[in-house]
Amino acid sequence: MKNAEVKVRNITIGASKPIIIAGPCAIENEESLNQIACEVARAGATMLRGGAFKPRTKASSFQGLGIPALHYLKNAGQTYGLPVITEVMSIDMIDTVSEFADMLQIGSRNMYNYPLLKEIGKAKKPVLLKRGFSATIEEWIGAYEYIGHDNVVFCERGIRGFDPSTRNVLDLAGALVIKKETGLPVIVDPSHATGRRDLIEPLSVAAIAAGVDGLIIETHINPDQSISDAAQTISVSTLKSIIARVV
Ligand code: PEP
Ligand code: MN
Repeated sequence: MKNAEVKVRNITIGASKPIIIAGPCAIENEESLNQIACEVARAGATMLRGGAFKPRTKASSFQGLGIPALHYLKNAGQTYGLPVITEVMSIDMIDTVSEFADMLQIGSRNMYNYPLLKEIGKAKKPVLLKRGFSATIEEWIGAYEYIGHDNVVFCERGIRGFDPSTRNVLDLAGALVIKKETGLPVIVDPSHATGRRDLIEPLSVAAIAAGVDGLIIETHINPDQSISDAAQTISVSTLKSIIARVV
């Protein structure tokens, strides 16, 4: 077993200290991203997240600001000393996103997109590989093998269940299994796993207690005003409370 660590700039994922990736679901404008970055850095977050290209369920929903958002993300990360991560949705954007982001995210919907996985592997950047929402562990490992290098962190973000009271079902056991089987780090995304702000803190604490290597949490200075995923987005004060309990 590898039991590897993955380095993203000055951050090590898979070392003893859990990493905390925080930021908005989607980058909404430069000013709000800067405010969020400033506040989450102060709260103790390790990395900044934010979507520029959003895989929305409905074509009529906000699709992200695209390339301008990549500029905002890189600048905010530099200003506040946080490495940045954002999703790559298509092969044609890999090179562009790689210029701006320190880590490339493969979203749940694209875990089965083998041509994208093969190409993203060639960028030689650290990859956060989210679990497909109906993927078995074997399929998830299959996706990792398409990337073709070990600079990969897995992200358990909930799998589809039958009960609509939560958006998905957090599979903590699955997170531990993939870490065991691959020896690579795994983090948990309680935001997409639950869809519910009130469940983010308890599940974050549970995930870290179980032994995962970090968390990626949708955070906003004004959660109710978030353009996307407001119901699962937490405030900076909740983020502070989580960090105090897990780091
Ligand atoms: C995200 O983290 O921005 C996202 C869209 O999550 P997922 O791919 O897990 O749905
Ligand atoms: Mn989201």
